[in-house]
Amino acid sequence: MIKFLDLQKQYQSIKPEIDQAIADIVNKCEFVGGEAVKNFETNFAAFQNAEHCISVGNGTDALEIALAAFGFDRGSEVLVPANTFFASVEAIVSAGLMPIFCGCRRDDHTLDVQDAAKRITSKTVAIMPVHLYGHPCDMNEILSLASTHGLKVVEDCAQAHAAEYKGRRVGSIGDIGCFSFYPGKNLGAYGDGGAIVTNNGDLAVRCRMIANHGGVSKYDHEFCGRNSRLDGIQASVLNVKLKHLPNWTETRIQVAKAYDDALAGVDGIEVPLRQNWARHVYHLYVIRVGDRDGLKVKLAERDIQTGIHYPIALPSLAAFADHPQANADMFACEQDKHLLSLPMGDHLSTQDALEVAAAINT
Ligand SMILES: *Cc1c(COP(=O)(O)O)cnc(C)c1O
Repeated sequence: MIKFLDLQKQYQSIKPEIDQAIADIVNKCEFVGGEAVKNFETNFAAFQNAEHCISVGNGTDALEIALAAFGFDRGSEVLVPANTFFASVEAIVSAGLMPIFCGCRRDDHTLDVQDAAKRITSKTVAIMPVHLYGHPCDMNEILSLASTHGLKVVEDCAQAHAAEYKGRRVGSIGDIGCFSFYPGKNLGAYGDGGAIVTNNGDLAVRCRMIANHGGVSKYDHEFCGRNSRLDGIQASVLNVKLKHLPNWTETRIQVAKAYDDALAGVDGIEVPLRQNWARHVYHLYVIRVGDRDGLKVKLAERDIQTGIHYPIALPSLAAFADHPQANADMFACEQDKHLLSLPMGDHLSTQDALEVAAAINT
């Protein structure tokens, strides 16, 4: 059996460290706030090369809080790729803003900046590049579009911990960046978690206040915010796992390289492009294939688990039935027909990748 994801295997490889970290929190009863949370914010800011890190309850909250921090007028428009996880768009709606779906590039699957440019109106206030599957977006193009039109740049980095654009870690290349620590992400907690990073001190304070009932200190509420926190146990787990992330990322890159080489000559299979300026961290390894559903079944018969990211184009979801772009078929987003995610993660070896490739070839 070649698993899509294997969190148990990873836990077994770091069990003593994790057990100790969790036991420390329970012994101290530092369940909310405390040293582990502070340390994680410091460690993660340094890791992503950002000045500030605000930990929050999950990645969706991170996006929603980051958007709210700008204080945009209700109904203002935010450009977002049509192929991403639902939460990118949901956060825009929850922040009282209007998502405008944009096309995706066929080769590296990230936001098509030329297509986004055509969708700018007088109400557009922000653009949300999603570093989809772990491949960084073309940030120079996005920053130049943003500066021409006065847009804020909110990076969705939920799949892109340690990813780099031209040698720079994602997250603080734009105005603000949002991470998820959902267990299946490249850096995952043992529950929900998220973080916001930025080099803008004012935005950082604003985010912290929103996430902390509208104030920085207890009982001092300047406005109505919300409650969104990373808890002590999750922070302690993340502090342990952050130290292993460079190795785990290297493993993903090696597994991807094995797939690239082994699948290069296979008829009818397109491997994912990595732009030469990208450090792709392969949250997902997504191939394009004619009979996607057929291949998925055949691989399952050989005990090889695969995934589809994402099975329904966002504009076609029931949630957007009333959206002006509902059911729009204009995205060159073939995710609903031809994209297949192969097993990927630090639980795999290059030998596993060769076995998967051989099965695909057969
Ligand atoms: C996982 C994910 C999110 C949401 O993160 P949660 O922690 O699950 O709320 C947002 N955007 C993208 C692209 C994601 O993959």
